[in-house]
Amino acid sequence: MTTRYNHYIGGEFTPPASGKYFDSTNPYTGEVWAQIAEGNSEDVDRAVSAARSAFGEWKRMTPTARGKLLTRLAELIEENSAHLGEIEVRDNGKLYEEMSGQTRYMAEWYRYYGGLADKVEGAVIPTDKANTLNYTRYEPLSVVAMITPWNSPLLLLSWKLPAALAAGNTVVVKPSEFTSASTLEFAKLFDEAGFPTGVFNVVTGDGRNVGAPLVAHPDVAKIAFTGSDVAGAAINAAAAKDFKPVTLELGGKSPNIVFADADLDAAVSGVISGIFAASGQTCIAGSRLLVEESIHDEFVQRVIDMARTAKIGDPMSRETQVGPVTTPAQFQKVLDYIDIAKSEGATPVLGGKPYEGEGSSGGQMVEPTIFTDVDNSMRIAQEEVFGPVLSVIKFTDEEDAVRIANDIDFGLAAGVWTSDIGRAIRMTEELEAGTVWVNTYRSVSFTSPFGGYKRSGIGRESGSEAIKEFLQTKSVWISTSPHRGNPFVLR
Ligand code: NAD
Repeated sequence: MTTRYNHYIGGEFTPPASGKYFDSTNPYTGEVWAQIAEGNSEDVDRAVSAARSAFGEWKRMTPTARGKLLTRLAELIEENSAHLGEIEVRDNGKLYEEMSGQTRYMAEWYRYYGGLADKVEGAVIPTDKANTLNYTRYEPLSVVAMITPWNSPLLLLSWKLPAALAAGNTVVVKPSEFTSASTLEFAKLFDEAGFPTGVFNVVTGDGRNVGAPLVAHPDVAKIAFTGSDVAGAAINAAAAKDFKPVTLELGGKSPNIVFADADLDAAVSGVISGIFAASGQTCIAGSRLLVEESIHDEFVQRVIDMARTAKIGDPMSRETQVGPVTTPAQFQKVLDYIDIAKSEGATPVLGGKPYEGEGSSGGQMVEPTIFTDVDNSMRIAQEEVFGPVLSVIKFTDEEDAVRIANDIDFGLAAGVWTSDIGRAIRMTEELEAGTVWVNTYRSVSFTSPFGGYKRSGIGRESGSEAIKEFLQTKSVWISTSPHRGNPFVLR
């Protein structure tokens, strides 16, 4: 029995204009479990029109009232987190243990921006002009398009959606064609929370037939995108034609840097969580392990020993530590990169092939894989694999570590493991990355800005400054002068 999902437009679940549906497959079992509406530009038009019609009422609602609705939505997310987590696992194969926590935690973003909605204050600006009042107002943009990837569909949507709604925008979302179901289950909560219809809309389908027309739609004022740098570049170019602002959260090839003076037990665990959690399918994966030469062999052996104990299997089981890779294409891509690493001369010291042991089920499983003797110029060190593949690179000293870490087009995140506080601070200053972790890895919060340097993106999500990504500033001038000046002279 498969479940059939329609678009969510203007508060209704509506069938696609094409009348067609495509399959959604469980990556662990390989079975088709859902059918998703195959959208096209006609559906995009309908969704943008619904969002545009809802914009007037939504922006005129007081920020306090918008905030209350977001807070109510946060409560409903918490009540439904187990169900939403289960849908995500069925669609993307990540561990239920992680996804159920994630779907619960994402409620905090709605609560945070719900609270922030009525705290975005303009300023009265003292100017050099006599008898004038000048102040700023922050105003919404109108319809914001959001395009999300398959790896954590609801959490990544939640990093942008509540900020945009709190700011007074209405939204059309296109989730990944591989993981659309959870966004549609989530859409049901909007009606229950009491949002006006059309404030939130979902159109499903692929990048070419839904994503591209959504980006190009004349009534879409901004695009907030999370995904690969390749799609991000195409979206950025298309948006630039119409001067539309973008927020781009893109890929990474983050260095996890271990100095000889680090607490090595903590570092081993941080390295494992950086690359093998979520089978390496996270933008912040610490996929380049930089190890100080003097501890290289001992440290790598400890990482191998811990990685070898990982229980691979059914993502719904609480014991499983490494689950499947989400899509057949991604599975092949990971295997191709393993071949590339071997052909480049890297040494495979763990894994390196599809997992076929106990708990494999015909789905797309890859063994946790580690390569040593990696040079930073190799493709396996420079390109995002988005799978459970770790490249180990040696460094000689602090300066060498910084040079290697920054010698890359990406700049999403970096980890540093050291017990020297001076070194820790120097490293946080030198590393070219939007997030730097010291003696920890993978921490994120609704309170703290997240985003990339270099090819990892444009703009920031989360934290109080991110709401400005969905607002535009208006400067208002009011004359208080009883006199009229010379109209032929600009003052
Ligand atoms: P992807 O770029 O292939 O697809 C992402 C979304 O963009 C999908 O919904 C897709 O349909 C759509 N799309 C593709 N081409 C498009 C186009 N030309 N116009 C409009 N829409 C288009 O990425 P993916 O494979 O789904 O996700 C993995 C990537 O996402 C990795 O590179 C990963 O690093 C990145 N990611 C980044 C972050 C972050 O916060 N920086 C978080 C998670 C994932």
